[in-house]
Amino acid sequence: MILSQKNLNISESLTLAIDAKAKKMLSEGYDVIGFGAGEPDFPTPDYIIQAAKNALDQGLTRYTPSSGILQLRKAICRKLERDNHIVYTPDEIIVSNGAKHSLYNIFQAILNPGDQVLIPKPYWLSYPEMVKMADGIPVFIDTKEENCFKVTRDDIEKAINPNTKAIILNSPSNPNGCVYKKEELEVIAELAVKRGLFIVSDEIYEEMVYDETQHVSIASLNDKVKELTLTVNGMSKAYAMTGWRIGYVAGPLDVINVMSNIQSHSTSNPNSIAQYASIAALETPKEKIQEMVSVFDERRLYMVEKINSIPLLSCKLPKGSFYVMMNISQAIGKRHGNTLINGSISFADALLESKKVTIVPGIAFGADLFVRLSYATSMDKIQKGLDRIQQFMEELV
Ligand code: PMP
Ligand code: GLU
Repeated sequence: MILSQKNLNISESLTLAIDAKAKKMLSEGYDVIGFGAGEPDFPTPDYIIQAAKNALDQGLTRYTPSSGILQLRKAICRKLERDNHIVYTPDEIIVSNGAKHSLYNIFQAILNPGDQVLIPKPYWLSYPEMVKMADGIPVFIDTKEENCFKVTRDDIEKAINPNTKAIILNSPSNPNGCVYKKEELEVIAELAVKRGLFIVSDEIYEEMVYDETQHVSIASLNDKVKELTLTVNGMSKAYAMTGWRIGYVAGPLDVINVMSNIQSHSTSNPNSIAQYASIAALETPKEKIQEMVSVFDERRLYMVEKINSIPLLSCKLPKGSFYVMMNISQAIGKRHGNTLINGSISFADALLESKKVTIVPGIAFGADLFVRLSYATSMDKIQKGLDRIQQFMEELV
């Protein structure tokens, strides 16, 4: 049988695959240190669990409106106004099965065959695949490590052509931790308005910002840019709710309506219990989040300092999310045992094989001279894992 040509071209999510591999090796008794996972290592806060239990006790276990219950969409509107200074009405919000699903729906709703989507590189690995699944063409924009992996006006202008439909912004970024400043967003916003581009603004790491860094939502800049922006967020990272699968989009009514229709025929509503729990998450003061963020901050500082003390490795201090992009360019061409390190995959494979440490090869994010380490794991494991990386580097010849 001939399968779908379009979807045969879609690769597996390497981040999920590596995470699953690390969890499997752990369950088999291997002493694995996992820097692969993009998921908070904290439990979901008690008050959220309690709200889910209450929803179960109240029998709130039936189908809900496909785009999410009104109470949750109202809570999201309040959150966006309070935290992000953007005013939306509940019908401009759609709740989906995680922000990944939200993004998938967006591309299905806005793209026609051949439409191009600008994606700054290094990028979160699912963006290009989701664009392709919607018959679009991902167009990558190179960035520089010295410029904190951010795109400039020039970079974008060079990449725009009449087929350009949208640009993806992910600030704070996975995988590189960059956070765009207001002035930098203003430049991108002005260009998007001038050229009539949608802005897909993935803000799922908004709470994870460090050193006085402020997260700014591009849709908050002015009404014209708001009309073109799809603001994406979700519960996974800020509330340690990766398994609950709740994400959402706020955006122009016509796009949200198309997304709602798609969702009504594909998944129907996201889990009813998780929706009620998400209201509690959004409406409770943020002490728990702040505690998590300060723990991440400590780990971030330790990790960056340690990496920069290891010969042939380096990294910049990320301002947001919970990832570090480690530059391995000076290890390329060296050998570990019989393995020639010729890129991020051989580096990651040799490290796992010899030291039982998992990391994500940068090639998955379009950056083969880097590997990604997540610090969403305990300080003890970070120390042990980095010591093992140091030994690995010392063994290179
Ligand atoms: N965007 C980015 C940049 C991410 O790293 C993730 C990670 N899971 C998501 C979106 C999707 O998150 P979720 O589907 O768990 O809400
Ligand atoms: N987003 C996380 C990561 O990049 C989780 C895995 C995934 O959804 O791809 O590791």
